[in-house]
Amino acid sequence: MGGNRRRRLCQVCKSKGIRREAVVYMKEHRLALCKEHFTQWFEKRVSETVKEFQMFKKSEKILVAVSGGKDSQTLWYVLNKLGYNADGFFIHLGIGDYSDESMEKVKELGKKLGKEPFIVGLEEEVGAGIPLLQKLVGSTACSICGRLKRHHFNKVARRFGYKVVATGHNLDDESSSLLANLVNWNTKYLAKKYPVLPEENGFPRKVKPLVKLTEEQIKFYADLNGIPYTSRTCPMGDTANLHFYKEIMNTIENHSVGTKYRFYFFYLKKVFPLFNALKEELTEGTLRECKVCGEPSPSEVCFVCKLKMKLGNNSENAKS
Ligand code: SF4
Ligand code: ZN
Repeated sequence: MGGNRRRRLCQVCKSKGIRREAVVYMKEHRLALCKEHFTQWFEKRVSETVKEFQMFKKSEKILVAVSGGKDSQTLWYVLNKLGYNADGFFIHLGIGDYSDESMEKVKELGKKLGKEPFIVGLEEEVGAGIPLLQKLVGSTACSICGRLKRHHFNKVARRFGYKVVATGHNLDDESSSLLANLVNWNTKYLAKKYPVLPEENGFPRKVKPLVKLTEEQIKFYADLNGIPYTSRTCPMGDTANLHFYKEIMNTIENHSVGTKYRFYFFYLKKVFPLFNALKEELTEGTLRECKVCGEPSPSEVCFVCKLKMKLGNNSENAKS
């Protein structure tokens, strides 16, 4: 994709007898398209993914986890454009300018869509942002951040009646994390690696409608359609490992076009069912209600309530 050095004509226009220059050539699909037909192609691909995996119906309310980056912003935009009832939810992580700029982009897109996003600030909710929490807990910023995000998405989804939470994971994310988890035989993760995770244990259904689209295609769509997003990467991220596997996948893709797609979708079709059949053994088992906040937790008191207690900021009312 992208490298459109040779002048190519849009293949859809050409089939209708119109000569219009293509703005993109996707070599994995051997497809050259103009702006209008790329936009249509992209939206159709999202729509087909939603239907193929039975992610949600038009009648359901969807909560989109938006970070201000291109993937989640595009997801929020495209779901609304396709006629779904999708609302944005942003967590201000307290990571300085990065969080402020991300929040501005979310608000900007909200204005464009005529939808007010839900916004929660960790400093107000928990008592500290990610930098301080990392010092307090001592594990990686991303593992703390991931747990806090999950907790708040579930909480907001439950409180406001959303049965579905959608995230902007794309084909590059999914194929590279699949590779990393296979290399490390992370069976707990492999047993749950699917674009739809059903509603269970108090968690809403989790869906990933962009899994058939690459990072490049998403960025291109966002730019063509004037979707606001931040290009900044999180300064707290311990993402070296993830980038390493993304580079490997890109190297394989350059060597053999279409590998990312084949690798991931063959897994979903043929291998995932085998791991999923062993889900009970491979995952952490049943969750229970946190006795302080009522959210699902593997232990009596959930991670977030423990954090609040450490910070002396537990404002939740005890349930029992
Ligand atoms: Fe959170 Fe890590 Fe993502 Fe930063 S990179 S937003 S710390 S998960
Ligand atoms: Zn709790």
